[in-house]
Order: sequence, then structure tokens, then C-alpha cells
Amino acid sequence: MPVHFRPGRRQKAWSGNVVAIGLSAGFLEPLESTSIHLIQTGIFRLIGLFPGHGFDKADIEEFNRQTLFEYEDIRDFIIAHYKVTNREDTPFWSYLKHMQVPDSLSQRLALFESSARFFQHGKAELFREESWVQVLIGQGIQAKADPMVDLIPAADAIAFLRDIEEVIADNC
Ligand SMILES: Cc1cc2nc3c(=O)[nH]c(=O)nc-3n(C[C@H](O)[C@H](O)[C@H](O)COP(=O)(O)OP(=O)(O)OC[C@H]3O[C@@H](n4cnc5c(N)ncnc54)[C@H](O)[C@@H]3O)c2cc1C
Repeated sequence: MPVHFRPGRRQKAWSGNVVAIGLSAGFLEPLESTSIHLIQTGIFRLIGLFPGHGFDKADIEEFNRQTLFEYEDIRDFIIAHYKVTNREDTPFWSYLKHMQVPDSLSQRLALFESSARFFQHGKAELFREESWVQVLIGQGIQAKADPMVDLIPAADAIAFLRDIEEVIADNC
């Protein structure tokens, strides 16, 4: 049975004397289960910007800026799961493969495809480089190698990979 939901977020999580936290602030989707994390960060953000007497416009704007960044960052990560697909066997996957995505995501995908390079955009990003790279490679994105790779002697690269192999074997 399909479960219908309407994703989105408030334009302003903090407005006047009302602060929206959790589902009252927005909902993305359940794939990566980020709702409880967003509740926690919303509470911490409010504590960090807690008002004294009255409300300071600068505090409110900063709260809303950070909230916006966080939601859009998670949104991009979720969309990447669907956009980076090799499947075109159903109208659903075909649509997702060719759909328009936010500029922030298309820039990130273009950079990764052109040189396998990836950069974090800020400490507030929930999903770190490892998560992104695993999703992008796992979904089959064809990335050209970082040109710096040619500077690493093959013997060093093999020794490095053997170390990883040993660590994995020790922990299995
Ligand atoms: C089965 C399931 C599994 C989940 N798994 C995960 C997971 O693994 N990780 C994760 O991050 N998230 C998960 N979630 C999502 C997460 O649990 C919810 O997003 C989170 O609990 C929402 O908390 P909330 O306080 O924002 O909203 P709610 O828990 O919905 O609380 C809102 C409260 O406001 C009350 N209320 C509503 N309207 C009014 C009103 N007009 N006046 C007064 N009170 C009102 C409601 O009765 C309710 O008590 C899961 C959810 C479900 C259902």
C-alpha cells in the first residue's frame, strides 16, 4: 500500500516567539531516518541562540539560516540516492535519472564525476564524505580518477590497500 507524504520545510523555523522543531519544522522522507537527528540539532541550535529579554533579529535569522542549510543538505543527499541511478527500466527510474535537481547537488555530482573529488560544505553537514562517496559509487556513478592518483607509486597504493585488508580481516 503506498504511503503518501508531503515533503517540505517551513520558510522560517523561528518566527516571532514560535520555534518549530521536529515535524513541525519540516519532513524530508524516511530513507535515511533523519527526523530524530533534526529534532536534536534543532534543540541544540535553540539553546545556542536562546533569547534573553525579548527577541533579537540576528539570533532568529541565524537560527533560520542554519536550519535551512541543514534541511537542504539532507535533501541533496536523499535526492542523490535516486538521481544517480543507471536504471531506466521503469517510468519511475527513468524519470528520476533525468529529473532536474537543485544546483547545489548538480555541482557536487559534476565535481565528483569529473575528478572523484568531494568536499564538505560545512561542519553542520550530517552526511560526511564517506556516506556520500559510498552512495555515489554504490549507485554506479562513473567518476574519472583524481589526477593526483598518478603521483602515488603503485607499490605504496598496494601496501595501503593490504593494510586495509588486514584491518578488515582482524575485525571479522
Ligand atoms: C514507525 C516509525 C519509525 C521511525 N523511525 C525513525 C528512525 O529510525 N529515525 C528517525 O530519525 N526517525 C524515525 N521516525 C520518525 C520520528 O519518530 C518522528 O519524526 C518523530 O518522533 C517526530 O517527533 P515530533 O515531536 O516532531 O512530532 P510528534 O511525535 O508527531 O509529536 C507531535 C505532538 O504534538 C501533538 N499535537 C499535534 N497537534 C497539536 C495541537 N494542535 N495542539 C497540541 N498538541 C498537538 C501530537 O499529539 C503529538 O504528541 C520513525 C517514525 C515512525 C512512525
